[in-house]
Amino acid sequence: MKVKNKNKVDQSTFEAIEKAMDLIIEEFGQNEELHLQNEIDRRRYLYDSGYFKIIKEDKGRCTYPGCEKIAIKSHSIQKSASLKIIAEDNHVSMLAFDYRTEEMKMKRIGVNDASTFPGFCSEHELMFQVFETKGNIESDIEKLLQLYRSCCREIYGNQKSITISRYRHEQYLNFRNLKFKEMFLEKLEPDMLKDLRFDSIRYDHLTTNESLILNQITVAENHLKDFLYPMHKKLLKDIGKGRQQSTFLVSITVDIEIPCCLAGITYISGKGKVIEPIIVNVLPQIGSTMVLFAAPKRLQKRVEWFVRLITRSVFHLLESIEHWILDNSDHWFIRPSVWDYLNDSIKDNIINKFFLEMYSDSNTETMIFIQLRKELIHQFLEHYDPSSEEYQFALTKRKSLIEYLEKNGWGSDDQSPGGMALK
Ligand SMILES: [Zn+2]
Repeated sequence: MKVKNKNKVDQSTFEAIEKAMDLIIEEFGQNEELHLQNEIDRRRYLYDSGYFKIIKEDKGRCTYPGCEKIAIKSHSIQKSASLKIIAEDNHVSMLAFDYRTEEMKMKRIGVNDASTFPGFCSEHELMFQVFETKGNIESDIEKLLQLYRSCCREIYGNQKSITISRYRHEQYLNFRNLKFKEMFLEKLEPDMLKDLRFDSIRYDHLTTNESLILNQITVAENHLKDFLYPMHKKLLKDIGKGRQQSTFLVSITVDIEIPCCLAGITYISGKGKVIEPIIVNVLPQIGSTMVLFAAPKRLQKRVEWFVRLITRSVFHLLESIEHWILDNSDHWFIRPSVWDYLNDSIKDNIINKFFLEMYSDSNTETMIFIQLRKELIHQFLEHYDPSSEEYQFALTKRKSLIEYLEKNGWGSDDQSPGGMALK
């Protein structure tokens, strides 16, 4: 706070100002979120119209280097193949935060809008037309292009989250200063205020909430600087050359349709236990699912090891996809009936895990693809000899699925809708 023309303020007024200031600082010291205690104030802050405008904003410039043209709506996941395969009535399900009710909700979204972002101008969007039209991704160059647009979507997502967080931070400070000033002036006698003019009344103190916002900005900025921007450059270079040189790409295909599309990031352990991000895509095709990874070339051995680990069985792969969905990526879609099938207890676990534990290392087991697991267990038990390793493996999977269902209030499996007898 600056007191203008201090010399002209008489001693008693000056003391009253100091006293009011001490009092208000003490109150804020005891409760750093004092400005958000009142429900009306809190809602004014949370539902600021400028904030919603930024969230809804979906315009941008083409992400292709050197191109300044306005971007059109681009899909990061093939609409003609993957999204259509998991869609029901042309809709897929995704988890989204409802800013009005402050709740995380699973919502249905039309395939025309799912996975879109302002990625490329109409000219650069043509890069992806080959596999968009024919419906499947085959050659290495097509895979590189798919991973490239996934990288662009991540860049867009992180840049947007920085813009949102910066706005939130500024708004948080303005709001706090406003309340601080209001409460401070209330502590002074109205007569006293007549001859006083305050140029600025600010309260500078780093609160937990403010640190959280600033931390989100730093995390996103570092992710862009250390991984996404360099990866974008590398992928584009390899696309230009028509082969992998700066990047390392892995593609695996399993012959089941996993009812999930994902284009995001997961993490592997690098040298000295450093956690390294890599790009991952889960793309169902007719009768199969393609899982793609892209990493900087230097991580080749680590990625190979990681892929071996998660592809030991189709169950390991399913667990990994569930982990990417719930702990690593915010850009995925599932078949609506997969979600509808789950009971409320599991739905709550999933939402809580996604919302509250997104940035933690929680290993709570959460299964999403329950019907698919049941079908796979049945297939294993039907096709393999009871003395085989595969049969025994399916039995252990059946046991853990039954335990999971029971733990989550499904009682005996016969109670689960459309349940197959697992016991
Ligand atoms: Zn362009």
